[in-house]
Parts: sequence; structure tokens; C-alpha cells
Amino acid sequence: MKLKDLFGLVTGVLISSVITAQDSVNQKIKRYNKIGNLKVDTSFNSAYLEDFMVPYQEFADLHNCKIKVRNKNIKTTMAARPHFFSLLLGKKNRRYVILVNKKESFKGVHLKDVPSEARIGLFAHELMHIRDYESRKVTGVMERGLQYLSQKGKRQVEHYTDSLTIAAGFGQYLYHWANYVLHDSDASDDYKHYKSQIYMTPVRILTQIEESLLEQ
Ligand SMILES: [Zn+2]
Repeated sequence: MKLKDLFGLVTGVLISSVITAQDSVNQKIKRYNKIGNLKVDTSFNSAYLEDFMVPYQEFADLHNCKIKVRNKNIKTTMAARPHFFSLLLGKKNRRYVILVNKKESFKGVHLKDVPSEARIGLFAHELMHIRDYESRKVTGVMERGLQYLSQKGKRQVEHYTDSLTIAAGFGQYLYHWANYVLHDSDASDDYKHYKSQIYMTPVRILTQIEESLLEQ
């Protein structure tokens, strides 16, 4: 290879790597919409975002939290988690991720099929996971992680999160969500059965709403 050709090749490689770097920067900018401390994946359909903002706007205590909503292949419709490494940086620097399932072959409930009211219930539930994490020290958050390892522990966490959702005034929406999952969705019977073991059933939600009204 002549020196001139070699020079041309190196220049070409350099230019294409600069362009690739610029592309990835542009993609990064475009991937998330920022709303205060909230970062939302741009592919999170605008209709979802509107529904998401219904409970989010009500929960002023969460507006200071750094929350990212992102699409991922997961085994449930949505999941809220602390960003693991940020847990080590102290409470002020904690970050959270709300994952949205993007796997088409998923046998559970797809967000796109869920009616708006039910979706609001699910979003309120996910935000209550973050309220729960926020109320805990790092050891308490780790404890939640351990609870997720057993079905009994999972049930405790999810029932507690459902009761936070009811206490926050989103019980009716949560009822729509639970009812949709068990009775209206196209999810497999196995999935529905599993959900009924872990989460509050529609009847249980209604009972708890009534009880909370009596207490007032
Ligand atoms: Zn949950």
C-alpha cells in the first residue's frame, strides 16, 4: 500500500468514527424527553405520557426525584427500581428507573391494549414503589430487593404498594387496572393466576377503599 493510500484510509476511518460519535450523541439527545427531574423515553407513546402525568402531577414529593422511564425487555408490564450504583452515592443522588416492557412476544399485559383509566392505576402503583423506596434508607431498599426473591415477600411488597396507591387517592384507577388484568386482558391464564396471587384482587381493592372512607 502506498503512503497516499494509507493516509486516505486513516482519514476515512477517522471521519467515519467522528460521524458515528456524532450520531450516538444525537441519538442520546433524542432518546429522552425531560420534564423537570423526569426523563421519559421518546418512544413512550404520547398517550401513555398523558396518563402517566395524571398521578405524577399529584405526587409533589416525587418531583425532586430523578426518575427515568425507559423501554426494556422485562417479564412484567412495568417495574420500578432504584438505579443500583446510585444507591451507593447517598440519598440525594439516588436515581430510579421505571421500566416498560417492549417485548412483543410477552404473554402478559401490553400497555398499548390497556384502557386509559387502568393505565393510570398501574402508573400510580409504579410511582408508589418509588415513594416507598424514598422513605427507606439504603439498607431498607436492599431489604426490598431481598423480599422480591420469594413469592411471599413479593406479595407483601405488592400489597403494601397497592395500599399506598389507595391511600394516595388512586384506588378507583387501581381497581380498573386489577380488574382489566384478571378479567378483560388477553394475558395467559398462568399469568393471570400468578397476578392474583401477588397483587390485591379487585374485590380486595374495593373493600380497602371502603374501609379507608369509613376511617375518614
Ligand atoms: Zn408493583
